[in-house]
Amino acid sequence: LLYNQVQDLKGTIRVFCRVRPFLPGQSNGQSTVDYIGENGNIMIVNPQKQGKDARRVFTFDKVFGTNVTQEQIYADTQPLIRSVLDGYNVCIFAYGQTGSGKTYTMSGPDLTTEETWGVNYRALRDLFRISKARMDVIEYEVGVQMIEIYNEQLNGLNVPDASLVPVKCTKDVLDLMKIGQRNRAVGATALNERSSRSHSILTIHVRGKELVSGSYVKGLPSPSRSSWNSHVPYRNSKLTQVLQDSLGGHAKTLMFVHINPEVNSIGETISTLKFAERVA
Ligand code: ADP
Repeated sequence: LLYNQVQDLKGTIRVFCRVRPFLPGQSNGQSTVDYIGENGNIMIVNPQKQGKDARRVFTFDKVFGTNVTQEQIYADTQPLIRSVLDGYNVCIFAYGQTGSGKTYTMSGPDLTTEETWGVNYRALRDLFRISKARMDVIEYEVGVQMIEIYNEQLNGLNVPDASLVPVKCTKDVLDLMKIGQRNRAVGATALNERSSRSHSILTIHVRGKELVSGSYVKGLPSPSRSSWNSHVPYRNSKLTQVLQDSLGGHAKTLMFVHINPEVNSIGETISTLKFAERVA
């Protein structure tokens, strides 16, 4: 998202900050995170500066340190997922430099290990669980769509036309994801360079039908296209076009901002946090 696009949403986005731990083989010595305090504070120390210029506190809705598990991250995300079933549009996105943990938070390091699943799979698992529990009164239909935006081109990852695929359980989704990841990798020439310029988007569509009345569960009154148009002047990028129903208006949006604690990332870390703080 471009800066002015995000500025427009100021106040409507919840921002969680997550610090990636040092990875095996990285020096575990100096960290640019001085401390994580109560109330969403994080203090960053810049080893290249002296005195009062060396430290700066940033404030977000929540800050998660290096020892926070995927389960704990999801516990704070879950209320948003539940509101999907009440008709809200929800958008969760990850921001941060390459290698800072975006994929880890959203998908997890390994699809086959449930304990390390990221927000995406936990959310789907939850949606399936809840819809099963409400099965007597509401019939939910869940569909997923996986796309990648690269160089302003929109590619479907699981199917050629990026269409919505109906899914009945988490396994269905995992099978699709595996295909999607393969497709993403096949197209990549230089993966690292590519990943820094591509966005992958998993969209989960949920439709609920009340079995008693037969009428569809009402969401919140969604802004009409025309009012949306006048409201959101950022139709200029593919990403915001795709996300338009999930940002602003009556949507609930959560941004995970990621940083890594290495000293040589200090420049990126500070600019990432400054950007994220303006949105919060
Ligand atoms: P990005 O998607 O931002 O490029 P990744 O999610 O791929 O970054 O993370 C880079 C590396 O750091 C990966 O090897 C990943 O498994 C690891 N990593 C990221 N976040 C964590 C975390 N919270 N705990 C453990 N390892 C992590």
